[in-house]
Amino acid sequence: MYAFSYHAARSLDDAVQRLREDPEARPLAGGMTLIPSLKHRLARVSQVVDLAPLFPLRALEVGDKHVQIGALVAHQEVADSPELAQALPGLAHLAGLIGDPQVRARGTLGGSVANNDPAADYPAAVLALDATLITDRREIAAADFFMGMFATALASDELLVAVRFCRARRSAYAKFRQSASGYAMAGVFLADLGPAGLRVAVTGACDGVLRWHEAEQAWAQGRLPGALHHPGLQEDLHASARYRGHLAGVLFEQALAQLSP
Ligand SMILES: Cc1cc2nc3c(=O)[nH]c(=O)nc-3n(C[C@H](O)[C@H](O)[C@H](O)COP(=O)(O)OP(=O)(O)OC[C@H]3O[C@@H](n4cnc5c(N)ncnc54)[C@H](O)[C@@H]3O)c2cc1C
Repeated sequence: MYAFSYHAARSLDDAVQRLREDPEARPLAGGMTLIPSLKHRLARVSQVVDLAPLFPLRALEVGDKHVQIGALVAHQEVADSPELAQALPGLAHLAGLIGDPQVRARGTLGGSVANNDPAADYPAAVLALDATLITDRREIAAADFFMGMFATALASDELLVAVRFCRARRSAYAKFRQSASGYAMAGVFLADLGPAGLRVAVTGACDGVLRWHEAEQAWAQGRLPGALHHPGLQEDLHASARYRGHLAGVLFEQALAQLSP
């Protein structure tokens, strides 16, 4: 670990100002990714700006049309919310599948989405549920937010404040875990948006989350999509590209079986 200083944010403006003044400063949420990166010297920062004191970022609101979740809400809180389980069962189920109890207790929605790990679970829900990413200065549509592996539309001094999810008629998520880490080898989120049709997003299989348009069209025509065919399918020591494509098709069917009638 390289030396760095620590600053507990006094307000959202204070946190943003710190990041603006010092390009090598980084926001800290639950530390589940940032702290190991610092410990292993994979990242070097001049200071961490701890967002923990920013209580407005811990709100979880379930409305008639939307569900808004603050950036600092931990995965376990999302998994445990009875209102959310009723409104968006797929999202609550997804949060309960992340990592292990320690990771779910500390890891946050904002940290996960801002980090945009290609195997993270939340990005699939964000994309399928047509979410809006609310930052300290603007609102970004999910389709414009994810920019490929570990990259997002956030500026270096921009903070994610909350995510507003569209309240789908039905939702479901199925995931095949990488057995050591718990991250998704592949994960498929289904959001039934009523007249707007079924939206399907896939995480883990490619170098970033993606909409699976062929699956959406297949479902509209009363067919199953079969395997995912995409030039970006990942090939690594855990699985071949073909295996991951096949997995996406299997997970689509598993998620479909979870959708309540
Ligand atoms: C062992 C292990 C297993 C895991 N398994 C899974 C899994 O199965 N599925 C899954 O999806 N994830 C998994 N994770 C990741 C976990 O879910 C965390 O959400 C993720 O690591 C981010 O952690 P954090 O919220 O503590 O953010 P931090 O580590 O504090 O921050 C992560 C990054 O986001 C930035 N950041 C944080 N908050 C904000 C904000 N509000 N605005 C802008 N930038 C911000 C930070 O500067 C940093 O770059 C796992 C992690 C571990 C350690």
